[in-house]
Amino acid sequence: MKRIYIDDKLYHIAKDYAKDPFARRRKDFKRPPVLLQELYAALPEEDASYREYVQKIIDEYEDLNCLKPSEVARTKRKFDRILPEADLGKIFTIEGESAKFYDLIIKALRYDDLRKSDYIRNSGYLGLSIKTCVYCNAQLAVVVEKTAGGTQAKFQLDHIRPKSKYPFLAISFFNLCPSCGNCNSVKNDNSVKFDLYTEDSKDDLNPFLFYVTKDSIVKYMKSYDEECLKVGFLSTDGYQALSKDHDKNFSITGIYNTQKDIVAELIQKKEIYTESYKRHLAKQFKDLFKDESIINRLIIGNYDTVEDIHKRPMAKFTQDIARQLNLIK
Ligand SMILES: [Zn+2]
Repeated sequence: MKRIYIDDKLYHIAKDYAKDPFARRRKDFKRPPVLLQELYAALPEEDASYREYVQKIIDEYEDLNCLKPSEVARTKRKFDRILPEADLGKIFTIEGESAKFYDLIIKALRYDDLRKSDYIRNSGYLGLSIKTCVYCNAQLAVVVEKTAGGTQAKFQLDHIRPKSKYPFLAISFFNLCPSCGNCNSVKNDNSVKFDLYTEDSKDDLNPFLFYVTKDSIVKYMKSYDEECLKVGFLSTDGYQALSKDHDKNFSITGIYNTQKDIVAELIQKKEIYTESYKRHLAKQFKDLFKDESIINRLIIGNYDTVEDIHKRPMAKFTQDIARQLNLIK
């Protein structure tokens, strides 16, 4: 729902991650370069180009793990020259188990282990604090999966470039973005216009806007029937290509028009929390409300700044509507 600019600090963090995404694991945990080496040895000698593909991932392991979006196309062309994309699905049988070539790479890169725990540990450490789906912001980016012993909560990660076509980016920092189970499954291998990361400092980092239509607010104020409320979704650049693409792919207006009760509550709060009442609260609870942001958070029940949109579901929607209503600045 918001973009993240790759500044020097973030790139430095990505480079640090790239050296060893499993840095917090024990020493005897087999790292991907070792497993890739084993995969290389297990592939038949006559499939030289497949071996070469694996060798290239080993050689460029660190660089690939922090590859910037602008470098992806050039790198992909190099990999395609070794092995065309159409050949990545070839089945190999290794130690009695058959699997597609790209799945063998993903396994060797230990993608499953990364999303189980390392991404969560690292994302806190990375300071990104993304806990919600970056596409819809309506849900947490966590799914529960069955395990032999019961269930386990895992981070759901979307690969911006699909791993069946870009297996070498399966654990690459800027290719991973937290998403909910719904958005991940509807997006599948499609590409969408919205990119989580940008290298252009002039890009608007907050490119979407939720709003409630004015006439629907008027109707609501007469009847207090929240079904009267109508939620809309725009791109802030004035061209609606981005918001239309996002809406088409993830049904954003469909999702948020089921959340009219939040809008109704914000309208009611606007009536209650006048500026003088807010000042009164700030004065009465000065230890509690050290800055205005905390009062705003309490009033709207969510984060009130753009930077924090990905910290809690519905933050973007709640902020935009609260701002439209002048409940927060
Ligand atoms: Zn989602």
